[in-house]
Amino acid sequence: MAVLAINGGKKVRDKPFPAYNTIDKAEEEAVLRVLRSGKLSTYLGTWHDDFYGGVEVQSFEREWESFFGVKHAISVNSATSGLYASVGALGLGVGDEVIVSSYTMSASATAALVYGATPVFADIDEDSFTLDVKSIESKITPKTKAIIVVDIFGGVYDVESLDTLAKKYNLKIIEDCAQAPGVKYKNRYLGTFGDIGVFSLNYHKHIHSGEGGVVVTDDDSLAHKLRLIRNHAEAVINAKGYESVDELKNMVGFNYRMTEIECAIAKEQLKKLPQLIKERIKNVDYLEAHLKEIPFLSMPKRMGEHAFYVHPIRFDESKAGVSRESFVKALKAELPRTLLRDESDVLISYGYVKPLYLQPLYQEKIAFSFNDLSDQDYSLGICPVTEKMHFKELITHELMRPGMSQDNLDDVIEAFIKVSKNLDELR
Ligand SMILES: *Cc1c(COP(=O)(O)O)cnc(C)c1O
Repeated sequence: MAVLAINGGKKVRDKPFPAYNTIDKAEEEAVLRVLRSGKLSTYLGTWHDDFYGGVEVQSFEREWESFFGVKHAISVNSATSGLYASVGALGLGVGDEVIVSSYTMSASATAALVYGATPVFADIDEDSFTLDVKSIESKITPKTKAIIVVDIFGGVYDVESLDTLAKKYNLKIIEDCAQAPGVKYKNRYLGTFGDIGVFSLNYHKHIHSGEGGVVVTDDDSLAHKLRLIRNHAEAVINAKGYESVDELKNMVGFNYRMTEIECAIAKEQLKKLPQLIKERIKNVDYLEAHLKEIPFLSMPKRMGEHAFYVHPIRFDESKAGVSRESFVKALKAELPRTLLRDESDVLISYGYVKPLYLQPLYQEKIAFSFNDLSDQDYSLGICPVTEKMHFKELITHELMRPGMSQDNLDDVIEAFIKVSKNLDELR
């Protein structure tokens, strides 16, 4: 009988998995082209043609618009900046409540805070891990103005129900699509269903330019405000003039601009997106065909297409007879790290990130002096599904990224099977 590596046995695989690296000659040439032009950014923070950025910035944005079928794509230096600009452009502020997912990257919620609005956390649906529309409805108050919905892990949220709810209560929707670029639902791209959609181009995402992001909208007025916030709004309005004082709301600008080199890289990356998504789906299909035979694991329900930023698998402790922690620890011991991310260990995690309301910021209820979080409930227990997933059931891994060969995937499968057949060793 095989001895588990965690108990001193031989690992299923020692040799590191190949890196997920989507950068090649195409990006190299694009960077050199810009470098040789000497124009690394031509933005001007005033009312001028260069307010909109240089040739690479603008051509990247036009390509993003045509790919996603949206009227406006506004490049920004991160999805975090994009989320912040979105809340600003919607005119939200002190006294407003924004309903956000409890299970997401932290910036999905801080976007409300930076404008003085109050994040109100709603629970997730246990099949899709995205916001549960019933939970959202239970959190709506007369102060609620918007919902920030996240296509977490690359999956589709409940588009129709959320749309109906938003119309019923007159709420705006910001879609945080950082983990699901290029995924279609009913023949339309995620990120284009809400009032504003936000994408990330950071190094960990499907496609990247090191750092970067894109905000999309079909609304001309929102697009204008997003561009102002991206680039020194107050100085631009000073030069441009304004018709009514209302136009000044939240028009304190930042510098959220992408550089010419980043946009030149991003243009090449966008061309690769459809193929990269296809490969992720193919790899997950292959893994799931084997992993679904393991009785205490359940594979994610797909609500439509999926980008598999990570592959979420649920673990049933009552069926396994061991805890998720001991299973994952044993699994990780069988497998190697992945190249390129030298600092990281095996790319398998217990859950995802801690439910956001449990962060010190919300527990201590201190962000900015103008935020009044005092009557918000951020206590343990407010989002039971999120807590169950994070603390008990969910396993996420990244061992399905493009670059993983069939042999590599076979090693992943072998490790899962080896541990699941030798659970006695963990008891
Ligand atoms: C990565 C990520 C962000 C932030 O992206 P940056 O470009 O790093 O700012 C926001 N939301 C979600 C869901 C993410 O995964």
